[in-house]
Amino acid sequence: MMDYETRSPLKTRTLVAQGPDSPGSVTHALVLPIHMSTTFTRDADNGYSGGRIYGGADNPSVQQAEALIASLEGADDALIFGSGMAAAVALFQALEPPVHIVASRAMYYGLRSWLAEFGQGNGYSVSFVDTSDLGAVHAAVQPGKTGLFWIETPSNPLWTITDIVAVAEIAHAAGAILCVDSTVSTPIFTRPLSLGTDIVVHSATKYLNGHSDVVAGALATCADSPLWRRIRRVRAQIGVTLGPFEAWLLVRGMRTLHVRVTAQAKTAAVLASRLVGHSALSAVLYPGLESHRGHDIALRQMTGGFGAMLSIRVKAGAAAAIAAAAQVLLWKRATSLGGIESLIEHRASIEGAGSPCPPDLLRLSVGLEDVDDLFLDLVQALGSTAASLDVK
Ligand code: PLP
Repeated sequence: MMDYETRSPLKTRTLVAQGPDSPGSVTHALVLPIHMSTTFTRDADNGYSGGRIYGGADNPSVQQAEALIASLEGADDALIFGSGMAAAVALFQALEPPVHIVASRAMYYGLRSWLAEFGQGNGYSVSFVDTSDLGAVHAAVQPGKTGLFWIETPSNPLWTITDIVAVAEIAHAAGAILCVDSTVSTPIFTRPLSLGTDIVVHSATKYLNGHSDVVAGALATCADSPLWRRIRRVRAQIGVTLGPFEAWLLVRGMRTLHVRVTAQAKTAAVLASRLVGHSALSAVLYPGLESHRGHDIALRQMTGGFGAMLSIRVKAGAAAAIAAAAQVLLWKRATSLGGIESLIEHRASIEGAGSPCPPDLLRLSVGLEDVDDLFLDLVQALGSTAASLDVK
């Protein structure tokens, strides 16, 4: 039976495990080679019958990664970039100003800062709103001017859930398009294109690669629109493609995507439920918890798990949160997310002035370690003993 979500006869788990089709290798190698060539030969009749001319965009290793991401997202086409930020910025640069953008207030702080700093002065005006509040999304529309809705769900670092179907309807009624940063959900838990999204965005640096050793980004779409063609041109013109070695590593990382994120999300769910009610915490933020404001929408638009990101808020405030992060032995104190090793981070410290992130918040990226080891390490860091917490 055809899997409509991926438009492939294979289940996602099989798709990623098998990886891209071998391009008829003369060596019969099971693992794809890395294609390093930056240029491709022209025929004697001056044509390019091989279909490849020059650079990263034509590189077979890059295109293999793109093909796999497109199948995972159920997309017709995907484009890989040198980072998640490069993917997002290429999209904004391909818009035709003047254009008004409605964007999630809670989102990856790097993009929020870029939009506020460079976007506003260059023909874009941006309204940052709480996109989990559909009334606020409606109210932000500027008829005839709003061209793009940009949402991140679950969004950094509160894991706020935005209703993709509802925002797609608002966007399309306004004659605008919807882009969804689905980095945290991954194509394993949400397929935004099947919910009405026009372009899905990933920092492939995170779960898609999964090993904290590649910086990459991706866009995918079902519609070959003029905007999509401009994005492709922007990428080729300014050269924000990925190198072949990184593309090859990305494919290798994606081959374990399903098992990694499924296991990581399972551990995150157990940690979240065990941490609820901890005496040192004022809140545990995880969309899989029934108490999370976006849980019901998450149930509708996330399948198979609620992701592996959660945050905890430390009752005693920012200094106590930083002190707890200093005490962990197993969790690594580092920024980023989505790798196989668990990370802890005091987000307000890295987001700096103007961040809407609560100062008492610690962000947890759950990796592949044993759930009890992770829990006990957090508990000791929070200054409690496991025995007093009835470890299940
Ligand atoms: N989107 C999200 C949700 C992120 O967390 C990040 C980075 O942390 C980005 C985009 C930017 O990605 P990159 O670091 O690959 O540029």
